[in-house]
Amino acid sequence: MMRYADFVQTLSVRCTLKPTPEQAEALEATVQLFTEGCNHALRVAKERGEFRRFRLHRLVYKDLRAMGLSANLAVQAIARVGRKRGSRAKFYQPTSCHYDQRTFSLRLADETVSLTTVRGRMRIPLKIGNYQRHLLRQAESVQGAVLTKGPKGKWYVHIQIRVRTPEPPPGGRVVGLDLGQKALATLSTGERFSGGPLKGKRLHYLRKRAEVRSRLDRPSERTKSVKRLWERLRGREARFVNNALHVLTKRIVEALEPGDVLVLEDLTGLRERTTKRGRKERHLHNLWPYARFRFLLEYKAVLKGVRVVAVDPRRTSQECPRCGYTSRQNRRSQALFRCGACGFQHNADWVASVNIARRALAQGAGSEGLGHGQLALMPGNRLTYFRLLAS
Ligand SMILES: [Zn+2]
Repeated sequence: MMRYADFVQTLSVRCTLKPTPEQAEALEATVQLFTEGCNHALRVAKERGEFRRFRLHRLVYKDLRAMGLSANLAVQAIARVGRKRGSRAKFYQPTSCHYDQRTFSLRLADETVSLTTVRGRMRIPLKIGNYQRHLLRQAESVQGAVLTKGPKGKWYVHIQIRVRTPEPPPGGRVVGLDLGQKALATLSTGERFSGGPLKGKRLHYLRKRAEVRSRLDRPSERTKSVKRLWERLRGREARFVNNALHVLTKRIVEALEPGDVLVLEDLTGLRERTTKRGRKERHLHNLWPYARFRFLLEYKAVLKGVRVVAVDPRRTSQECPRCGYTSRQNRRSQALFRCGACGFQHNADWVASVNIARRALAQGAGSEGLGHGQLALMPGNRLTYFRLLAS
């Protein structure tokens, strides 16, 4: 039997905090002071044109201590500004605070964390689900954490952990995944995941929400019971989607083998790069909490020894995998791809998944550091294989 060296991966796990009112007040004051410290350090860094951490430390450390920040939080504030070297950051909003191993610790026995605040060290209970518990138990070490305040005054802690995962064996397959409209997810190996009731239910909630929202917009109907209905609807939808995403990502990872490289469309990147959103992206954005889907998929994949890479998804549904001819006309309908140049014809989502995998191969996903992968295709499909070997 072959044995593989261990492989260490850093993951960030978001957990809800359950502070008492006094603790919440202390967190608030801490985030405020930390942010003031960051903004002071940023101002000085800009004035002096000095973003190097050690130089900046000499310039502002005493000020930050005088403001009331603990030594460790002062160091973290300087690190945060130092990281933003030459950045265009204007100033920081008081919504987060960075912690390292000295200012933050996790105790799994009673599921609490301990944080340095302006009122001293505090132990605060976590509210976590099974998947967070599972991940945290796997943690080899805790690197640090980011405390954030969400809308409606909820507190979260993003715990950075290192997990030891199986080293992906070399020679794995490169598998593309397309988030489609017909099937929610299609792998280049031919597996398709309808997402179960996810799509239909989500549309149902979308309509329902619009309905209640319009009632909330009319002052005469904005009653307590309508507001409660709104909250209930949001909660039910969130739980439903979360559960469906867990099931879907679990099934996708079950279709993969340790050593495979899973290639995704980088939809978050697309959102940052272009202000004009494509039709597909808009559609998915409404139906799909993409960031959440990706996180769940990524961590399940990583724990199985499957690596995940993301590629630019533009025009992946318009390119012919056999001859390379790219045209909007190639996509005859939502379901059908037919190449205008060579006549190659196939399921449109599958064609997109193949193109996604090929993009990663072109970027070297199959070689350097990722094992010598080969494009994984539907069994028996040699049409595209031929072209790939030739190119
Ligand atoms: Zn073609």
